[in-house]
Amino acid sequence: MPSPSPPPAPPVLPISEHEDEIVAAVDANPVVVVIGETGSGKSTQLSQILHRRGYTRRGAIAVTQPRRVAAVSVSRRVAQELGVPLGDEVGYAIRFEDRTSERTCIKYLTDGVLLRESLSNPELKQYSVIILDEAHERSLNTDILLGLMKRLITERASDLKVLITSATLDGLKVSKFFSGCPVLNIPGTLFPVEKFYSTERPTNYIESSLRTAIDIHAKEPPGDVLIFMTGKDDIDKMVSKLEERIQNLEEGSCMDALVLPLHGSLPPELQVRVFAPAPPNCRRFIVATNVAETSLTVDRVVFVIDCGYVKQRQYNPSSGMYSLDVVQISRVQADQRAGRAGRTRPGKCYRLYPMSVYEKEFLEATVPEIQRSSLAGSVLYLKSLNLPDINILKFDFLDPPSRESLEDALRQLYLIDAIDENGQITEVGRIMAELPLEPSLSRTLIEANELGCLSQALSVAAILSAEITLRSTRSKDVGGKRKKQELPDGSGWGDHIQLLQIFESWDQSGYDPKWCSDHDLQVRGMKLSKDVRNQLCQIIQKIAKGPTDVHARKSRKNDPDYRKLRRALCVGYGNQLAERMLHHNGYHTVGYRAQLVQVHPSSVLEGDEYGKFPMYVVYHELISTTRPYMRNICAVDQAWVEPILKKLQKLDVNQISGGSSEPKDSEPQDKHVNVPKKAVDVQQSEVDS
Ligand code: ADP
Repeated sequence: MPSPSPPPAPPVLPISEHEDEIVAAVDANPVVVVIGETGSGKSTQLSQILHRRGYTRRGAIAVTQPRRVAAVSVSRRVAQELGVPLGDEVGYAIRFEDRTSERTCIKYLTDGVLLRESLSNPELKQYSVIILDEAHERSLNTDILLGLMKRLITERASDLKVLITSATLDGLKVSKFFSGCPVLNIPGTLFPVEKFYSTERPTNYIESSLRTAIDIHAKEPPGDVLIFMTGKDDIDKMVSKLEERIQNLEEGSCMDALVLPLHGSLPPELQVRVFAPAPPNCRRFIVATNVAETSLTVDRVVFVIDCGYVKQRQYNPSSGMYSLDVVQISRVQADQRAGRAGRTRPGKCYRLYPMSVYEKEFLEATVPEIQRSSLAGSVLYLKSLNLPDINILKFDFLDPPSRESLEDALRQLYLIDAIDENGQITEVGRIMAELPLEPSLSRTLIEANELGCLSQALSVAAILSAEITLRSTRSKDVGGKRKKQELPDGSGWGDHIQLLQIFESWDQSGYDPKWCSDHDLQVRGMKLSKDVRNQLCQIIQKIAKGPTDVHARKSRKNDPDYRKLRRALCVGYGNQLAERMLHHNGYHTVGYRAQLVQVHPSSVLEGDEYGKFPMYVVYHELISTTRPYMRNICAVDQAWVEPILKKLQKLDVNQISGGSSEPKDSEPQDKHVNVPKKAVDVQQSEVDS
């Protein structure tokens, strides 16, 4: 048998050249900030350096990543460099997927998974070192971890080291947050990058990127091209158009070309292709989301095409509405994108916007996620930690969220029984916090367990968490005509019931991949939902009091109108309730922020024979695209709504926020930064995570 090829020798990266300096700083300080260019080796080398220097003798090294794709990719790389199988000494853990063993001493994990681990082990004693990587991304979970680390280093003064790494972060600000901890600046080896600006914003940035790419291919010397797009849809379009144009290029380039997509929902085996060198005499075009800005370093790029946009999910606490917008990037992001062209030799960056836009319209830095997200899950998490002296409004955040969004979170948690009228976490809230789901779904599961329909609720939660896109209800038949597919229709009760029916039908088929393709459903997504369901079953069986019935089966026989499940959903989504308007089919949301909304066109819910929709529905999310829509809705009974309305009447926000009505000095008074955006209707799953 041929022997396996030896692992590549670890590269000498800027970080490695500063090994002694880094180790000396870590030896002498509980917290160290490391700032270094993207690609300088922060993610792959720091953990190995500390491992070599004995830091794993007393515990493992945790390296957090804001994105799942980076946790998987970087751990794979480190395992390869150390010549060990992934999952042994080096492993990763992301939500619903744990590839570690008791031998794992370097563990890459998403920041959300580390937060969850701290619930069962608040001192995180299993770790001797915690590296918060990619802190410049300012993900919600990393920001919360920064606050928690501040507490933890005083509790574990002698045996915990915290490193915070970043490509762009304002080191002094973080250092100040950690009482003046040292900041190590690792000089990079960035070559100059020449920047070219467009004279005006293109009307179609895909077309414009395409033209620029073809121009580079025809006229420029060898060197790979990195093209930034906003999401999977744009990338798919761009890849196929680019391949087509390259083939039809009249004055062909003297080089071959290879076009590769790169985004978070790409299967891992396709992701790794971007790390392999190009075949001889071939130019690679990598069409990527902002995952290639700093999270994943693609080598050998010489040309960058930057459309100047990014897809961003933003939450407005005053309307409870999400919008998924294509927004302008910040100057820091634009500089990061340009920098990707100068890692191996001098490069060129084509900015598809005028210099004046860069200078005057772009924000200096991206708004941290904590200031543009719903905080219900994070506040519940913080409450469940039982930290002494904690008043959520006064938690020590690097950049505090607005008072309005904290109060919004408290209200939501109160309406679904996670906290009581005094803002104290309830028993139900504690169980909810242990489930790796958003609060509404956790609450639904707990209620479903009480009502005897846990099995169905688990299927719904799993399929929602796997973010399966019901791509279309139509598919091509042999004659090329489009014919209606036989996807279940929710029996007139809405999308959650449809999702349940889909899962149950798939279960009945014996999890047959052909069933998925016959119904135009992605096999990978459906398999993930099955895994997620299994894991949720294990977790709920561990934490639920009393017996649980978790087996999937056709549920309609016993409860033809799905009353139990719909009731559980009504309790779980008690903060996301809407009432039909009397004279037409629009709805208004019920609660402290009434809002006119419509049923999303993708919904299976239809009006009755007179075109009337149900009086009350609960919704999974409100999303503002061309207009405000409720997505994933379920019809509920008026009788189930009454207790929620009563709770709403009693709700006193001062009381649930612990009576403190004085805003903190550092708290921003106005939290919504209006980032100029393009209006498009996009799926949540299109944002890379
Ligand atoms: P930083 O965290 O400072 O941005 P990294 O440690 O991620 O830098 O990257 C250092 C080097 O390792 C880069 O040259 C990058 O291309 C390479 N690298 C990182 N991940 C992978 C991977 N999965 N496969 C191959 N090379 C990788």
